[in-house]
Amino acid sequence: MSEDRRGDDVFEELPVMALREVVMFPRSIMPLYVGRDASMKSIEIAQASYSKLIFLVNQHTPEVEKPGTQDLAKVGCVSKVLQRLRLPDGTCKVLFEGVYRARWEELHEDGCTMAKLRRCADTPGQQEEVEALVQTVREALDEYAKTCRKISPDLLMSIKAVKEPGALANTIVPHLKVDYHKKQKVLDEDDVVHRLELTYELLQSEVSLASVEKRIKNRVRVQMERNQREYYLNEQIKAINREMGRDDDPQAEVDEIEQKLKKMDLPEEARSKALTEAHKLRNIPSSAVEYTVVRNYVDWILDLPWNALKETVIDIEKARDILDGDHYGLEKPKERILEYLAVQKLSHGLKGPILCFVGPPGVGKTSLAKSVARATGRDFVRLSLGGVRDEAEIRGHRRTYVGALPGKILQSLKRVKFNNPLFCLDEIDKLSSDYRGDPASALLEVLDPEQNNTFMDHYLELEYDLSKIFFITTANTLHTIPVPLLDRMEVIELNSYLETEKRHIARRFLLPRQIQEHGLKSTNLHVSDNALIEIIRSYTYEAGVRDLERQIAALCRKTAIRLVEENDLDKCVSITRNSLPSLLGVKRYRHDEREVEPRVGVCAGLAWSQRGGEILLVETTLMAGSGHVVTTGQLGEVMTESAKAALSYVRSRADLLGLDPRFHRKIDIHVHVPAGATPKDGPSAGITLATSITSALLGIPVRNDVAMTGEISLRGRVLPIGGLREKLLAARRSGVRKVIIPHDNEKDLKEVPDEVLRDLKIVFVEHVDEVLPQALAATSEEIFSGRGNTQPICRALRLEKHDNQPTQ
Ligand code: ADP
Repeated sequence: MSEDRRGDDVFEELPVMALREVVMFPRSIMPLYVGRDASMKSIEIAQASYSKLIFLVNQHTPEVEKPGTQDLAKVGCVSKVLQRLRLPDGTCKVLFEGVYRARWEELHEDGCTMAKLRRCADTPGQQEEVEALVQTVREALDEYAKTCRKISPDLLMSIKAVKEPGALANTIVPHLKVDYHKKQKVLDEDDVVHRLELTYELLQSEVSLASVEKRIKNRVRVQMERNQREYYLNEQIKAINREMGRDDDPQAEVDEIEQKLKKMDLPEEARSKALTEAHKLRNIPSSAVEYTVVRNYVDWILDLPWNALKETVIDIEKARDILDGDHYGLEKPKERILEYLAVQKLSHGLKGPILCFVGPPGVGKTSLAKSVARATGRDFVRLSLGGVRDEAEIRGHRRTYVGALPGKILQSLKRVKFNNPLFCLDEIDKLSSDYRGDPASALLEVLDPEQNNTFMDHYLELEYDLSKIFFITTANTLHTIPVPLLDRMEVIELNSYLETEKRHIARRFLLPRQIQEHGLKSTNLHVSDNALIEIIRSYTYEAGVRDLERQIAALCRKTAIRLVEENDLDKCVSITRNSLPSLLGVKRYRHDEREVEPRVGVCAGLAWSQRGGEILLVETTLMAGSGHVVTTGQLGEVMTESAKAALSYVRSRADLLGLDPRFHRKIDIHVHVPAGATPKDGPSAGITLATSITSALLGIPVRNDVAMTGEISLRGRVLPIGGLREKLLAARRSGVRKVIIPHDNEKDLKEVPDEVLRDLKIVFVEHVDEVLPQALAATSEEIFSGRGNTQPICRALRLEKHDNQPTQ
């Protein structure tokens, strides 16, 4: 039977000792340090008694020095004083052994505080329930011993040996490291079942607390180990660097990079990627190649103007002034640009088509784009796409390549340091593609307003926003621009300049600019109008004004040298038409000169090239032979075929023209187009070839004041051609009076300046039959009715007669 069961009506009187934050349990042996006088007295009295018993009771209020009745718990433990040891400081160390639980009834003073006590009796519960609880508590105790390792195996054995349920709880609880209030609750409990339940709860909460504690400890340990390891390694790297005499500290460098990245305004994705890369640097020796690779990558991210926007303004009046101030003429393009800017201003954004300036070289496409940049307050970037074949030039190389870099778009942005410049993509028509990928498709992504806010460069592998950039593209021709690209662009045409326009541009822009660039004063050089026209006509051959500017620069150089040689910086050098040969050399071009008199087989065609329009003389001679057709003068395939088509047409009209239907068998035909060294191609010389051949066959000269252009079909129909404006300019320049053009080109005349049309008689034709009477120096009847040459055979004979004199 347990000590608690021995009759609970027994009263005893024992000295009392109040305990601070300690709860004494029956069966437990506990040393306590005793210092208070009252406690000392109680112990002495207890020791003096036969039983050596004392009532140890917990004090709710440990801070109270002299506890009263209200400070003491109701239930305490009657204990035996086993041993008392006096310590040098006057206190004692006393060993107690708990005997039974007791409840005090009253306290009184009798040498020390004495308590009248009643033993507490356990209330046994239902047997099965108690047994089950005992089992559960034992298991919980095992678990506790395993996880907390605060109970030694011997102790565990001895606790397990306790059979009596109430005593089991009393034995376990003193060993738990729980708050004394909780322990007091167990001590207070008379009901065994409840006491066991409380014990179980305490064990469980201790176990779960211990496992959380263990987890935390583990985590802290791992973190500490990692930190220690990194610290140790970093210190080692530093020591190695010091040892090797490298004073730059890569770690400090990385710290600096990381700080910069944290402060910089850039997308989160880019920041975290850059931070990850920068972190890699910590573990790579700075002399390793990989260090440079990673460092370059991080530098690129640091250097790009991710969100740096330059303040832009759109003031239409100011823009108009700037455009007019920078460029002469170009009315239509300027107006179109201003409209575009106005729409941008209203819609507060750039989501519109990309502008594409199309025109021959030197007409001011790039410089117009530069003016637009100035007018909108943006920086100007130019990227020439001529000959770009490799997609990587636009989109960059993947980082796996040695020496990889981002594409030219990002390179240019890095240079300007703002993310909203005006980007001029020059010569977009010269893009080409090969096995290295298709740059056009990369450009498609760059120029598409719907997707260019997430442009992906191969090197960066991060989305980059290009949507704030104002793109303008330039091209010489639209034919070679890939259709999907063209689709995204709004074409603005810049035409070639008239002679008078060139003169104005030279006078107002090129001359003042060159004078200034050569360090001259405006009074140092005077160029007469006639001299300018002569330069335009005889020293340049172009649609634009680039060569003209070069010639003017040459004049400025010559002037500069004269001023310096003569040591007269205020001298005014006057340049007239006559002084040009001595300054610029002999005339370089003698083009556009029509024949001085009508000639047989020589017909003036009109051609178009990048440099503008020009007169192209086609010559045909006949020789005795066997039906061969020879073409010379570097004619392209299309032009050679055109010559054959022209001949076939003439043969089909042999009867009407009064020719022997088999005339071609007796002769060889030689068609030549000077200048022989310049390649020529295109179908638009069709009617010229036909006229020239017919003239040679009929022996009728072609009028020298007529020029023509038009493609020919086998049946003699005249088909429309391109470049009419430039061709008519060339015709007027060379003094031609009459120009024969396809009927279908009539609509294009509105592009031609009035001053040009005033000097020309334009004849529209639908069939070659209409061309011949206009071009040949003979009447329609003479040509078609064969009057004077009625016998076909007679013409053939005439041909034979001419065989000996091939040139006419
Ligand atoms: P493109 O890009 O069409 O080949 P540029 O823009 O390089 O031609 O122009 C060549 C030169 O001609 C530049 O110096 C430019 O200022 C000048 N220029 C062209 N057109 C004009 C014009 N209408 N007014 C003034 N200068 C012009």
